[in-house]
Amino acid sequence: MSYDHGNIFASILRGDAPCIRVYEDEYTLAFMDIMPQMDGHVLVIPKEAATTIYDLSESAALACMKTVQKVGKAVEKAMEIEGTTIFQHNGKVVGQTVPHFHFHILPGSIFSAKGL
Ligand code: 5GP
Repeated sequence: MSYDHGNIFASILRGDAPCIRVYEDEYTLAFMDIMPQMDGHVLVIPKEAATTIYDLSESAALACMKTVQKVGKAVEKAMEIEGTTIFQHNGKVVGQTVPHFHFHILPGSIFSAKGL
């Protein structure tokens, strides 16, 4: 699938749209979800233009995992919970609404998320 450079996460990466940044390095960005499923809901994205997990380069995949580990632990600490739910969608048909690869980090059970 070709990458849509007009998607909102691409705008955030370009600095054209705002976000509440929690972590950034050369390859990844983590920020608060604008419509959180629960308090402390964070998203981790690669800076690489990738729509789904199947489009990610090996180096971007590794960088995302490293950031998820780092930010996930920080979210646990900040929210005072010893556990997180980490998930991601690949494709509209399974619920992906923003066509730029992202991990969700939730400091709690998916079953207590809003909207479920
Ligand atoms: P998806 O359904 O694609 O897995 O998740 C997309 C996530 O991005 C949703 O949880 C949604 O709330 C979040 N989101 C959509 N637009 C924005 C935005 O403009 N800023 C931020 N911070 N999050 C967004």
